[in-house]
Formats: sequence, structure tokens, C-alpha cells
Amino acid sequence: MKILFSNDKKIFNEHTDGIPYVSFDMLDRMGIPNLYSTRFVRWDEESGRGVEGLRTAIMKKDDMAEAAPVCRANRELLARQLGSTISMELATDQKHTNNVYVATRREDLGVAPVGPAALHRQFVDGIVTDIPDALLTAFGGDCPPVYIVDPVRKAMGLVHAGWKGTLAKIPQVAIAQMIVKLGCDPSDMYAAIGPGVCKDCYEMGDEVYDAFAEQWSREDADHLLSRYPAKDKDGREIPGGKYHLDLREANKMTLLRSGIPEDHIAVSNICTMCNVDTFYSYRGRRLENEQVAMLVNHWEK
Ligand SMILES: [Zn+2]
Repeated sequence: MKILFSNDKKIFNEHTDGIPYVSFDMLDRMGIPNLYSTRFVRWDEESGRGVEGLRTAIMKKDDMAEAAPVCRANRELLARQLGSTISMELATDQKHTNNVYVATRREDLGVAPVGPAALHRQFVDGIVTDIPDALLTAFGGDCPPVYIVDPVRKAMGLVHAGWKGTLAKIPQVAIAQMIVKLGCDPSDMYAAIGPGVCKDCYEMGDEVYDAFAEQWSREDADHLLSRYPAKDKDGREIPGGKYHLDLREANKMTLLRSGIPEDHIAVSNICTMCNVDTFYSYRGRRLENEQVAMLVNHWEK
């Protein structure tokens, strides 16, 4: 796949058999099945590019009766590539909250929503679990998923971290639930911040700077947000300009402050908006569909 990386670090592996996806090299090396989908339903060897049109998430514009079985079937095909099945699925309705659901019973599995428009657990954006072989899913266009794993307790979490969830430190909430409810220790945990919008692409209003200054600190807000100069039609810098937010760095700071060691953290170098030909991007081309992130609580012996 042709992916534009923001640096040349090897963070992802590309898979073009079956439905194409990318996976985290760090998690692959730990034997943990994980993926992040693309726009592509399949890879065409002849043209050397993907065939577009993969639908995994039900969008607001969609007709439920038509979209639900299509999205479900595609997620099942992706899940099978990880040796899993969506009857083991745990998903959330994703409302830009910092609420995290702790799934510990097998009854939690497979009854999850089939996308942001089909709700089961109301107002939840993250799941943590220690159920063996549970399939955690999260959807995102530009909002990165954060994958959290604990190989000692054999527990996992997956959260949807848009700017609101990032501001409300949803990875920290998930880690706290893993500590309190699942007996995990953050020094054992590993985390991967998935593909999402990069700082250069992520223009925000002044109120977002103010919110970080208030809820984090002014120092943090200055570190995470920069005002980019405005340009006139000839590309010359003019007064004004908007803030840009570094979502990756913000989530990485939250993971570090929650006690995960720095060398246990992988950060995506894929921007969904810079790569709008490969990934769906909410800001890039509004609301066509989203990627699905998958993480299976399966550990190679
Ligand atoms: Zn970008």
C-alpha cells in the first residue's frame, strides 16, 4: 500500500491478503492480533493499488437495514484475518466521552453495536477486558484509537480518542480501570496510538487551546497546540491563523503520566488526512465511512 508516513520509522506492517489493513509492528512481535483497516476491500496486484469502498461502520446517512449486514459481514472478514469472529466483538457507541466499559462476562460479547449509529452501550468510548479471545473494536476517521495491552494479566483495552476524549484523558481512564478492576500494573502495560489526523492537518478553534490550558495546564496547552500562520491566496503569511493540536503527543503524554514506560509505547506515523486515498478521513472527505481498529485478547503461548 502507498502510505505517506510522517517519518520513516517502521511502526506498521502492511497486509494485502484478503481485506487490506495495517498492524502495529510492536504488537505483531508480541503475537497480539491487531489491525487498522483502510478504504480498500481488496488489493489489486495488477494495478498495484487497493479497490476502494470498504464499509465497516454504519454512518448517520446510511439506511440501517441496508448498511448493518454489509458492515457486519466486512468486520467478520477482517476479524477472521486475525483468527477471531465478531461473535466475540466488544464495541462502543463512541460519543466523544471518556467513559470506559469494563467487560468481564462472556454475556458482554457479540451483542455490541455494529457501528456508531447502532447503540448498545450508551455514551461509552472505551472498552477494557480480560475475557480470553475477546475482540475489541473501535471506529475512527481522524480520531486515533489507542490500543493498550497487559501481557502479564492478559488484559486489553481499546479507546476512541478524538480531541474531546483526549482532553478528558480517556487512555488514563482505561488504564485506571485495568488497574482497579483487572489487577493490572501500568509498568507491565504496552500501548499503541493508532492512525489519525496529524498536527499539520488538525486545525482547531481557540476554545480548544483554552480547554487544554484549563483542564491540563497552560504549559501543556503551549506544548500541544501551536498557532499556525494564516496565508493569503498567494501563500504569503498574514496576521491571524488557527491553532493546531497534536493529538498523538497529547495521548502519549497521558499514557506516560499513567505510568506506562516510554519504551512500551508506539505512536502511529500515519495521518488519515494526508493519506486520504488510502484511509477514510472525516475532515479530508466528509463522512464516507470510517476505519475499524481491532484488537484480540489472544496471547501466543
Ligand atoms: Zn496530516
